[in-house]
Amino acid sequence: MSTALKLDHEVIIIGAGVAGIYQIQRLTELGVNATVLEADADLGGTWYNNRYPGARFDSESFTYGYSFSKEVLNEWHWKEMFSGQPENLRYLNFVADKFDLRKHMQFNCRVESVVFDEENQIWNLKVSDGRELTSRYVILALGLLSKPTKPRVAGVEDFKGQSWHTYNWPHENVDLSEKRVGIIGTGATAIQVIGAIADKVGDLTVFQRRPNWVAPLNNSEISEEKMEEIRSRYDEIFATCARTPGGFEHEPDRRGFYDVTEEERYALWDKLYDEPGFGIWLSNFREIFTDEEANASISRYIAERIRGRVDDPAIAEKLIPKDHGFGVQRVPMETNYLEAYNRPNVHLVDLAETPLERITETGVRTTGADYEFDVIIYATGFDAITGSFDHIDIRGRNGLTLREKWFDNPSTFLGMMIHGFPNLLMPSGPQSGSASTNYPRGIEIGVNWSTDLLQHLWANDLHYAEATEAAEKRWTDHVVKMYSVMLMRKAQSWFTGYNSNVDGHEAGKVRYFVYNGGTPKYVATINEVAENGYEELSFTSEGMPAAV
Ligand code: NAP
Repeated sequence: MSTALKLDHEVIIIGAGVAGIYQIQRLTELGVNATVLEADADLGGTWYNNRYPGARFDSESFTYGYSFSKEVLNEWHWKEMFSGQPENLRYLNFVADKFDLRKHMQFNCRVESVVFDEENQIWNLKVSDGRELTSRYVILALGLLSKPTKPRVAGVEDFKGQSWHTYNWPHENVDLSEKRVGIIGTGATAIQVIGAIADKVGDLTVFQRRPNWVAPLNNSEISEEKMEEIRSRYDEIFATCARTPGGFEHEPDRRGFYDVTEEERYALWDKLYDEPGFGIWLSNFREIFTDEEANASISRYIAERIRGRVDDPAIAEKLIPKDHGFGVQRVPMETNYLEAYNRPNVHLVDLAETPLERITETGVRTTGADYEFDVIIYATGFDAITGSFDHIDIRGRNGLTLREKWFDNPSTFLGMMIHGFPNLLMPSGPQSGSASTNYPRGIEIGVNWSTDLLQHLWANDLHYAEATEAAEKRWTDHVVKMYSVMLMRKAQSWFTGYNSNVDGHEAGKVRYFVYNGGTPKYVATINEVAENGYEELSFTSEGMPAAV
């Protein structure tokens, strides 16, 4: 770790969310001079920001928590199967306090630029408070969904009532009772909000452009006894998560879709629909993700379930997606969402029939009508995956900006390294094992691999590591190729890089954001890279010896 240069830190981590917290724990445990720079006023990332009513895990709580510390596992009591935001933020604070990590974190520090100094082989960072910092290594723990986007329509600034994006839900208590509330969007976030507030607001109008497939979360409380039982099973729980594609306890049904009768399929689906969590999605037949007919069959089943829960048949039809099949993108899990539409104070506006025209001083105007509100909630999603990277001026060798390099499509090695950007790691970057899995399971894998690589560098007195161009191409081609067998590629969602509110990310161009091979294959691949002595990395920069 020696260097002739006086660096501020050996490692700078950007982001104090789930990934940043674990990464700093690993590094401080090793005695490394590392710090975390966080733009928010406190730690927690997603769980610090998304304070909207109904915000909660769609992973079983005990599969979402960190697995690295027996003490944490033994001491923490998850109160619900799918824990809510306040509790989740308390948990992250509990972990940070337990390992005394807060002293290694700096808040209200928005990183503006991260520029590689080729001569000295170090990174120069500019922070919003005016400071300039140097480090040998930078770890980007920026989160996948941390750049919220509002609709690109006129008038968003004109509205005279209260309005906010769900990601920026006010920290103070918001009283919506008696209020006329409009919510734009029907993604996973809106689906949680609508279910949570329908019976607490005066009047709720939902503006839906395209419906999403939904399935019930079936949440429940976790008693002391149940938590004891969970604690006794933790080894088994994490072993199961490690062998399932999605990093959950839900394992795919190994029977072939075409090897069973329709009655047997329906028996499975009836069972899964009433079970907690993602079972109906992930414990299903594997063909539903790849085979059009299998997918159409489960879609018909879920559509019938929607019709069975929504009183007005015309509303039910509007809530059934027609442009993509069930499960080809992450399924929003709901509580009382469909039943909300049976309430007299909840109204559905179909933007496919009467598109959004503008926001006015008093509310929302569609091509069909003007709607007046006291509050407008934007549940309109994110500039996903690459958005948080694009907002930092990241420059690698030869002044190449990451924004330029990734404009058409991100290209990475294992989702964790980038050719042209030496000594830069992303434990949960695009095309890594995190995005398409139970996020913290993927994060722990990424943080551990990144930390092992750093230890390899330190142990061998190396100061430079960069993915070769060939290695990056091989991985990115592999990620792209896998999309060709997934029906997911046909759905317009953030998984395919779609966002109508961001220039260049509108419909029509798939960007290959996620690795679809599943956790076990991903882990096997990255472990092999390490076991082979990281031969797909170069450890000296071209044309110059590594700095000492
Ligand atoms: P999202 O899935 O991208 O949904 C955004 C919604 O806003 C969509 O319904 C979209 O309609 C609509 N929209 C966007 N711009 C619009 C415009 N200009 N006019 C009208 N409608 C517009 O975002 P999200 O709901 O925040 O969810 C993002 C991801 O976060 C999820 O996929 C999930 O992975 C994660 N999440 C997880 C949980 C959890 O349970 N742990 C909860 C919430 C979110 P279109 O579909 O027509 O574009």
